Amino acid sequence: MAKANREPEVEIVVHALRNGLASCRFTTLPNSKWPAGHRWVFAQQKDFVTCAECRAVHGWRLPELGEAEVAKLVEPEPKPKEPFDVRSE
Ligand SMILES: [Zn+2]
Repeated sequence: MAKANREPEVEIVVHALRNGLASCRFTTLPNSKWPAGHRWVFAQQKDFVTCAECRAVHGWRLPELGEAEVAKLVEPEPKPKEPFDVRSE
């Protein structure tokens, strides 16, 4: 499988959003202003959360998703305003 065509040199971290902020509070900025490489999903989509700190906050185990699954979360626009639709294939 070819690698997904996405920004190089940026490690994607998926945080769990809680009360409009990352659960790990890596920043106090709203999710719309997060730096590159930081994505988010709602807590209900915890299987997609790759941030260890966020998972620790919620008491979740580490994800079993591989890079390919995480890449599915990455949208071309750098500042998504809507949650990722994990149901679409
Ligand atoms: Zn986090």
